[in-house]
Amino acid sequence: MRSMEESVIEEAGPPPAPGEAEHPALALANSALALPGGHTADLLGTPAQAEQWLVQRDLAPEGTGLAEVCATQLRSLREQVRSLLASRVADQPALPAALTAINDAMTRVPTASLLLWDEKTGPYRATPHPTTAIVEHALATLAADAADLLTSPDATRLAACASPPCNRFLARHGRRQWCSTRCGDRARAARAYARRNATD
Ligand SMILES: [Zn+2]
Repeated sequence: MRSMEESVIEEAGPPPAPGEAEHPALALANSALALPGGHTADLLGTPAQAEQWLVQRDLAPEGTGLAEVCATQLRSLREQVRSLLASRVADQPALPAALTAINDAMTRVPTASLLLWDEKTGPYRATPHPTTAIVEHALATLAADAADLLTSPDATRLAACASPPCNRFLARHGRRQWCSTRCGDRARAARAYARRNATD
């Protein structure tokens, strides 16, 4: 089952950018792809895709049953993480709304197990909704990882892929400015093409 899902993701975009394995928040930021030819791919496009994305990163158990509202929350957190990464890479102040969103996601957990009272059997405790609890926990983990990433020594290695139209971020190793060999090849080809045209 999983290998099929993975091949679908592989078709949709390049392999994980450097740093994604260590930082799920970076993987989250890179889950909406701008591809050559004006194509886009959203690895969180449907609730099923979003659930698979979480399962692959041990952020949710198989069969969570993610609803569209949960997938929307995940996509919304992605936009805030992207905004903060872009601010960091550009050495610009962060948008206050993005900071608030990250801090809200981090502090919303743990979901309290509420006190409930059954007319016949008396008091008991239960989490409001298991799926909500799973999703809030995943959002909190991703938000905390974003906060770690932005404040860790790795933050100085953050970069935006320098191969248009790619919109991915990466943690740079050495001087490499692109997220994948595919992007590097495309950037080199574009440079060669520009040189050829300039000499014509
Ligand atoms: Zn790239």
